[in-house]
Amino acid sequence: MSRSSRPDAGGSPGEGLTGSYTSGTPRLDRVYQDSQARAGVTGQPEVTSPIRVLADRHGRIATDLRVSLTDRCNLRCSYCMPAEGLPWMPHDEVLSNDELLRLLRVGVRDLGITTIRLTGGEPLLRPDLTTLIARIAELNPRPQIAMTTNGIGLAARAGELAEAGLNRINISLDTLNPDTFTTLTRRRRLPDVLAGIDAALAAGLTPVKVNSVLLRGVNDHEAPDLVAWAIRTGVQLRFIEQMPLDPQKGWSRDRMVTADEIRERVAAVHPLVADPADAARRGSAPAELYRVDGHPIGIIASVTRPFCGDCDRVRLTSDGQVRNCLFAREESDLRATLRGGASDRQIADQWVAAMLTKRPGHGIDDPTFLQPDRPMSAIGG
Ligand code: SF4
Repeated sequence: MSRSSRPDAGGSPGEGLTGSYTSGTPRLDRVYQDSQARAGVTGQPEVTSPIRVLADRHGRIATDLRVSLTDRCNLRCSYCMPAEGLPWMPHDEVLSNDELLRLLRVGVRDLGITTIRLTGGEPLLRPDLTTLIARIAELNPRPQIAMTTNGIGLAARAGELAEAGLNRINISLDTLNPDTFTTLTRRRRLPDVLAGIDAALAAGLTPVKVNSVLLRGVNDHEAPDLVAWAIRTGVQLRFIEQMPLDPQKGWSRDRMVTADEIRERVAAVHPLVADPADAARRGSAPAELYRVDGHPIGIIASVTRPFCGDCDRVRLTSDGQVRNCLFAREESDLRATLRGGASDRQIADQWVAAMLTKRPGHGIDDPTFLQPDRPMSAIGG
């Protein structure tokens, strides 16, 4: 039986999406097929839309699942964690590989997820990561598998991860100065990160994207140097505006280095031009694309020019909580449902329902804005 002919297909698509639809509805089919094309989902004999999608009440459909594999990290970045670290989640609260795979299967097979991005904490700290990636790669339809990492330990593992099925990688690097790296991360590991980036390039995990957060008075003067290094190395650099997710609650809008400032700093040294194809290409991609001598440079204006209206993301924490937004204040406990013996259908129902409270945007500029209780390291980037 094809997915589109299952008996529970139905619901009324369009305005006030409820998460169910009849396959064949032009708008939702197009959204799903576009997301598959973006994710590079190919090679299926006949790719049909899932019966249900993760739709919210604002006309958006989530196809990009970000999965935090652990809340643990081997760095202590000042904008993410206090120097002493955070209380780690007990092991029995973290989903096992089998539990996680079951949720991912429901997401991919029944709910239209086309990309799975593995995050942390630091995902390389997850035991059996290579096996987990290989098992995700066996899901049908096969999702694109991406990972966001700090790069420590990647030098020895990039090849095996690529072989297991990892398609893309984003590596965080805010500075090329060893002392600034130590100040920012409270660890002396810059050479490990640079070696990890080289290994990712050698393993063909291209384009290797490098994410940089600039902090005023700490590393913001390094923007042009980072661009020159990215061009030399052959990575795609993306500057990201810092967001209020630090557990110390030290973020301030006034001190944040804005996308416009970043652009000006880079343009003062390099011939930075807007990528003419950017507007047509953007879709739900967060980065505004520029070029320096033909080399792509991204700037992600998460705060000053939010892209929430095109959001296609949903998150799953390592303890099995669905978060419909990075800044969600509520979570939906799929772990309890799964461990309580629920069917795949019941899990899918709960996941679909969790999307309906997704707010239109992060609301950082709203006076009533509250940071999420869960720290960034336990949500995943
Ligand atoms: S802040 Fe929330 S709504 Fe906005 S892009 Fe991020 S996850 Fe999507």
